[in-house]
Amino acid sequence: MATNGAGLPPRDAMDFDVVIVGAGPSGLSAAIHLKQLAAAAGSEISVVVLEKGSEVGAHILSGAVIDPVGQTA
Ligand SMILES: Cc1cc2nc3c(=O)[nH]c(=O)nc-3n(C[C@H](O)[C@H](O)[C@H](O)COP(=O)(O)OP(=O)(O)OC[C@H]3O[C@@H](n4cnc5c(N)ncnc54)[C@H](O)[C@@H]3O)c2cc1C
Repeated sequence: MATNGAGLPPRDAMDFDVVIVGAGPSGLSAAIHLKQLAAAAGSEISVVVLEKGSEVGAHILSGAVIDPVGQTA
C-alpha cells in the first residue's frame, strides 16, 4: 500500500461547500435552512454534517420536559 511522507496511508478527502460540526438541533436546522435557501435561489450547495455521536440524536439531552405549545409573538 502507498504511504505518505510520514509512513501513513493517504487520507481520503471529500469537498463540500459547507461543513457543519454537530448534528444537534442547531446543526441540523442550519443544514436544512442552508439547503432551502440555495433551492429558493435556484442553486445547489453541498452540506455535510459531522457528528461525533454514534448516530444523529445520540448526544441530544432531554429531560422530557417538552412544552408542546408554540410561542406566538
Ligand atoms: C439535562 C438537559 C435536559 C434538557 N431537556 C430538554 C427538554 O426536555 N426539552 C428541550 O426542548 N430541550 C431540553 N434541553 C436543551 C436541549 O438539549 C438543547 O437546547 C439542545 O440540544 C441544543 O442544541 P444544539 O444543537 O445547540 O447543541 P447539542 O444538542 O449539544 O448538539 C451538539 C452536537 O454536536 C456534537 N459535537 C460536539 N462536538 C463535536 C465534534 N468535535 N465533532 C462532531 N460532533 C460534535 C455533539 O455530539 C452533539 O450531538 C435539555 C438540556 C439539558 C442539558
